[in-house]
Amino acid sequence: MLNKKSISDLSRADLDGKVVFVRVDFNVPVDANGVITDDARITAAVPTINYLRENGARVVLASHYGRPKGQVVESMRLNVVADRLRELIGGRVEKVDDCVGNSVRSAVNSLKPGDVLVLENVRFYKEEEQNDPGFARQLSNGMDLFVLDAFGTAHRAHASTAGIAQFLPAYAGFLIEKELNFLDKAIQTPQRPLVAIIGGAKISSKIDVLKHMLAKVDVMVIGGGMAFTFLKAQGYEIGKSICENDKIEEAKAIMAEAKATGKTIILPVDSVVVEKFDNDAPSQIVSSHEIPVDKEGVDVGPKTVEIIKDVLKTAGTVMWNGPLGVFELPNFAKGTFAIAEALAASNAITIIGGGDSAAAIKQANLSDKMTHISTGGGASLEFLEGKTLPGIAALENK
Ligand code: AMP
Repeated sequence: MLNKKSISDLSRADLDGKVVFVRVDFNVPVDANGVITDDARITAAVPTINYLRENGARVVLASHYGRPKGQVVESMRLNVVADRLRELIGGRVEKVDDCVGNSVRSAVNSLKPGDVLVLENVRFYKEEEQNDPGFARQLSNGMDLFVLDAFGTAHRAHASTAGIAQFLPAYAGFLIEKELNFLDKAIQTPQRPLVAIIGGAKISSKIDVLKHMLAKVDVMVIGGGMAFTFLKAQGYEIGKSICENDKIEEAKAIMAEAKATGKTIILPVDSVVVEKFDNDAPSQIVSSHEIPVDKEGVDVGPKTVEIIKDVLKTAGTVMWNGPLGVFELPNFAKGTFAIAEALAASNAITIIGGGDSAAAIKQANLSDKMTHISTGGGASLEFLEGKTLPGIAALENK
């Protein structure tokens, strides 16, 4: 589907000896000691890196890491990432302490075909997020080709994701191709029924996804905090549960649209409620239609989980984005984990939209049971809203 040139269009003749600047997303989580806790984003970029190496390219990798806000922050250097990459791919992986300038030029000059150079965090320069053309040009200095493989940052128009494409021939990497193909197929030509499970705190951050997806899906399950705005729109008492009163009309419109087009929307029928937002607060399971006025909903209840499981039994494709409860607190994570397990047990094609849902699946050790887990929460959401991702738009058309 990808109407953009990709590295599969490049052969050894195009790559041998060339210096290829690859924008990857190595923004991996680390623990308090700076040890990487999940290297999925690094392993996801390996197919592209190895393809370029095997075809004789000299590979230069650029990434952001954390939020240094345009300054050098020692704890946000990419050394730990370069070390992990070296373990993963073997071969020569060098690291340089800048991403532009003389030190980069001399490091690039010493690369041999098949070698890899990891540049320093591109967000140490404020010009990166400003998509400054002068900075993009500096990044492109000494490079022959640009490959975008940072799906997690493809929705940002930054110098190293989009701006640089003005100065170099620009191609999609394998990860970008894979992500777009899974997401696109799941919404354009899915194995049906197509079920979307959308959760998370606020309806406002996902309203465009809800609207765009409603036209594509057969069943839409709405859980998490955002469900309460829909329940209130139906006239139910939601107590102190999170609610966006200014979105009630939109929630009504979405439900009316579903009715008019024969789509099923499933909302929670029971909720775990507490008086105080605290993991150890005494909790109760009540009807989602009559939440006591002094209580708030923090998770879906067991009846709701059974209804969702039933839907999943016959689903052809399931797309999941957003937790069904406050899953960071173990006592309110049961609904979210029950859905993760139901997805793992399902025969459907399962596409997980990154972010919190991917984290829940990983915590439950179920990652290898899913068809595809996106490496980009924000990027996959913007794609599901029907938006064009700026990083992808900047690539050359086929
Ligand atoms: P989002 O970033 O919109 O995907 O929302 C994720 C957040 O939604 C997580 O931090 C959850 O704790 C939160 N969340 C899920 N269910 C609820 C709820 N019932 N009340 C408040 N927050 C919730």
